Amino acid sequence: MTFSGIGYDLHRLVEGRKLMIGGIEVPFDKGSQGHSDGDVLSHALCDALLGAASLGDIGTHFPDTDPKWKGVSSLLFLDHARKLLADRRLRIVHIDAIVICERPKLGPHFPAMRAALAKSLGITAEQINLKAKTNEGTGEIGRGEALAAHAIATVRLH
Ligand code: MG
Repeated sequence: MTFSGIGYDLHRLVEGRKLMIGGIEVPFDKGSQGHSDGDVLSHALCDALLGAASLGDIGTHFPDTDPKWKGVSSLLFLDHARKLLADRRLRIVHIDAIVICERPKLGPHFPAMRAALAKSLGITAEQINLKAKTNEGTGEIGRGEALAAHAIATVRLH
């Protein structure tokens, strides 16, 4: 028996913030705005995992009105999602995700992101596939004002 969940997130890119994506800092002159570290990929992934387990969404579990989550690493959210899944005897089979970002180039950072995400989720890097897209210069993402991520997670009862 397998289940799948979908996740999406978007964050504004602003000056004076670190650009955290997939649990690592990507060197860039702007970063993601957000209550936590603004990690768009980890947030989309967290929603995909919660979705696969029929457990609602990231806002329910980690409300951005709660000072406890201010500035925290979004890997904490993934760690928590992993525990929630384990409580329901759900095991992560595979994750696929797309990060949409005009700049910087993300491909070179994917091995480090996969390693960081895999560690938080208790799976191997081979179970995580990451893809990068630009928005072809259109819209807010194309103008470098935001970045977004889509993710799908497949989990299995064991
Ligand atoms: Mg978010």
